Amino acid sequence: MSRFLHVIALKDAVATATRIAPAPVPEKMPVGSATGRVLAEDIPADMDIPGFDRSVVDGYAVRSEDTTGSGDTTPAHLQCSGMVVMGSLDPNLTVTQGTCVYIPTGGVLPKGADAVVMLEHTEETADTVLVKRPVSYGENVLLHDDDFSKGEIVLAAGRKLTPQDMGFLAAVGCTEVTVAKKPVVGIISTGNELVPATARPGPGQVRDANASMLAAYLAEYGCETWLYGIVRDEREAFETVTSRAVRECDVVLISGGSSKDDRDMTAGVIAGRGEVLVHGIAIAPGKPTIIGRIEGKPVIGLPGHPAAAFVVLIAVVTPLLDRMLGLKKPVLRATGAVLGESIPSQKGREEYARVRIDNGVATPLFGKAGLLNTLVKSDGFVRIPPGCEGLEKGTFVEVILW
Ligand code: AMP
Ligand code: MG
Repeated sequence: MSRFLHVIALKDAVATATRIAPAPVPEKMPVGSATGRVLAEDIPADMDIPGFDRSVVDGYAVRSEDTTGSGDTTPAHLQCSGMVVMGSLDPNLTVTQGTCVYIPTGGVLPKGADAVVMLEHTEETADTVLVKRPVSYGENVLLHDDDFSKGEIVLAAGRKLTPQDMGFLAAVGCTEVTVAKKPVVGIISTGNELVPATARPGPGQVRDANASMLAAYLAEYGCETWLYGIVRDEREAFETVTSRAVRECDVVLISGGSSKDDRDMTAGVIAGRGEVLVHGIAIAPGKPTIIGRIEGKPVIGLPGHPAAAFVVLIAVVTPLLDRMLGLKKPVLRATGAVLGESIPSQKGREEYARVRIDNGVATPLFGKAGLLNTLVKSDGFVRIPPGCEGLEKGTFVEVILW
C-alpha cells in the first residue's frame, strides 16, 4: 500500500460525504421545543393574517375623499359617530360621508372607511373633529392578508426554525411540527498518548481535547452525541469500539490515526469492516482525512491535530449533517473585514486561515496548522480557494465566524 495519501479536491470530498449521508428521519414535536430544529414539513398560514383590515395608528377612520384639500387653515369638519373597541367588531359602526369614527391602533376598520387619519393631525372640538391633513386611499390601514395569506407556505421544509418562526407558528395556531430527528453522532478519540481531561498528563501524554470540542459543536449544531472515550492504537480494541459505535449511532467520527503512518489505524479499521471512499483531502489544515462507510453508516476519520479536526468538522462533516437534517440552506454567520497581513497559500488546496478581527481588520493567526490556540484565539476563518496562491494584505475578505 502506498505511504502517500491520494488527495482529492474538497468539493469532491464533500460530494462523497453528502452522497453517503442517511436521509432525514422525521419526528413530531411540540413547537415549544422546536427552536433550532430543521422543519421536515411545509407550514402554511391557516387563515389570512391579520384576518381583518385594521388601523396601524391611533386616529380617526374616514372616507379618504372627505379629507381632500384639508390643511391647518382649511381643516375638514367631520362628525364623530362612534368609536372602535379593541378585539371586537361592531356591525353597526359605519363611516358615511362627512363622518368619522375613533379607532385605536389594531382596531377593526369600520364599514365605509378606507383610511385612518393620525390623531396628531386632528383636533377635537365640541361637536366635530377637525382633520388637518388629507389621507389617501388605504393610508394607515393594514389589509386582512397583508401579513400572510391563507394557504401561503411561509415556512418550508428544510428550514432551521428561528425564534421569529415561533411567532409565526403561534400566529397560525400550530402547536406541533414535524422536524428532522437529531442525528446521533458517535465520537472516538484514538492515540496512545491521550489521557482524559480529568487526568494530569504524564511525560509525552496530552489530554483529549478533540472529543469535548467535537461534542460541543455537534450538540450546538443539533445532534445527539455519544462519547466512546479514548481508544489505544491497538487494532482489536479499536475495531471493537468502532463496531459498537457504528451499531449505536448514525454517524461515527474518529479523531487521530487518520494518516498513513504505521501506527495510524483508522483507515485499516474502516476498510476491515466496510470501505474507505476518500483518504486525503486538499484542505489545509486537515489533509489526512478519511471518509468511509461501515454497514451503510458514514465513518469519518478526522486528523488528530485539534485545529485540523475542527476545520474538517466544518468543511466536510457539517455538509453531511446538513443532508441528514434536510437543511436546505447552510446556516453561516459571516462578516466582512480587511486583511491586516497577507496570507500565503499553497495552490491546489483549500486553505482555512484562522483570523482574529479587531475593528474590521482581520489578522491571520499563523502557527502550526494543528494547534488549538489558533482556534481559541480566532474569531473565524477566511477561505482561500484552491486556485489561489494567497491573499494580499488590504484585501476585503469574508470571515466565516465560529
Ligand atoms: P495523529 O492524527 O494521531 O497523528 O495525531 C496528530 C497530533 O494530534 C498528535 O500530536 C496527537 O497527540 C494530537 N491529538 C490526537 N488526538 C488528539 C485529541 N483527541 N486531543 C488532542 N490532541 C490530539
Ligand atoms: Mg495518533
